[in-house]
Amino acid sequence: MKKVFILGSTGSIGVNCLNVISSFKDEFEVSGLTVNSNTELLLEQIKKFKPKLVVVRDENSAKKIYGRIPNGCELLVGEEGLIKVSIDAEYDIFMGAMVGFAGLAPTIEAVKRGKRIALANKETLVVAGELVTNLCRENASEIIPVDSEHSAIYQCLIGENLNEVEKLILTASGGPFLNKEKSFFENATLDEALNHPNWKMGSKITIDSATMMNKGLEVIEAHWLFGLQVDKIEVVIHPQSIIHSMVQFVDGSIKAQLGLPDMKLPIQYALTFPERLQNNFERTSLPEIGSLTFFEPDLTKFECLKLALEAINEGGIAPCILNAANEVAVGKFLKKEIKFSHIPLLINKALDKVENCFTPDLETIFEYDKKTREYVITLT
Ligand code: NDP
Ligand code: MG
Repeated sequence: MKKVFILGSTGSIGVNCLNVISSFKDEFEVSGLTVNSNTELLLEQIKKFKPKLVVVRDENSAKKIYGRIPNGCELLVGEEGLIKVSIDAEYDIFMGAMVGFAGLAPTIEAVKRGKRIALANKETLVVAGELVTNLCRENASEIIPVDSEHSAIYQCLIGENLNEVEKLILTASGGPFLNKEKSFFENATLDEALNHPNWKMGSKITIDSATMMNKGLEVIEAHWLFGLQVDKIEVVIHPQSIIHSMVQFVDGSIKAQLGLPDMKLPIQYALTFPERLQNNFERTSLPEIGSLTFFEPDLTKFECLKLALEAINEGGIAPCILNAANEVAVGKFLKKEIKFSHIPLLINKALDKVENCFTPDLETIFEYDKKTREYVITLT
């Protein structure tokens, strides 16, 4: 039995991860769960999966469930709780399913313990990729990507030599606005931006998909995960989201991984690797899908993707500034405080205003995240 600790169990990835665990009751047990504020769903999850430890980060939400936690389960609260459980809890696999920069500190603690990290929380690698991958090497901790594109590449690379890779081809659905003109962004509504054609995900990543910032973050994630230069990572629009990504080798051969757009498969793979276990998830019918199409992304229209590529090419702490500005800008759009078209404007302003810093340590990363947020919060 492997013990799984889920950071962010009430989110889209967290819930899917628990669904996968439910179908492999003899293989996995849940040792801990964390949430921000969704305590009602947490209580249901505690009843079903019987973890020994849970954390509610938001203190007011935690108060609502004092006295309602069953015996044998300990409740911790706040940021300190999140760090403490990452350090103390018993687990073999740490599922990083929290959203945003907030996932970084707990993930680092799991890496320091040499655990397997099933990583969905791409922001961790975007803001501190070099530091986290170095820590993984020092502590013999392995990151198995959960992000579907990176899981696809990971699977394509099994048995291959990284020196023989010519390029990675990251596929992108293009999101809900793929076929809209740029002028449409001026008045794009929140509901329209949240209406992703292929994937059902949390609100932050869904907006990132509409701006295509998500693909920019994924290029940075792939750069750190696979140690390849950014100019060897190509983004290709593939609206059907059936090919999850590809690897092209030096002899011109291309390997791809295919499947339905369902996160349960990459989640299961990250839990069971190097084994594959039989499941009863829906299968892909290629005749039913009919055709797969591909084309180049439009960087003039999707400015966020362009900004992300520029940030990783600039290097240093620029991706951290980009990420912090994006989290605040998306948060503002979700609260209907800014227009969709203002998201890249705010990020651009932050990248101009906050000076870059090269070879940052962890403390500097936290400092830059904070000061970028403080700046972008003041913008409209
Ligand atoms: P959701 O918004 O659905 O879930 C986020 C989870 O994290 C929830 O459990 C939430 O708790 C918790 N959480 C949010 N903020 C905090 C915080 N500050 N402190 C503690 N806990 C917090 O996100 P997703 O599941 O969609 O995404 C999770 C991560 O996985 C993201 O980094 C995303 O980019 C990545 N990812 C997601 C995919 C998907 O299909 N959803 C695909 C590929 C990658 P609560 O419910 O209480 O708010
Ligand atoms: Mg992805």
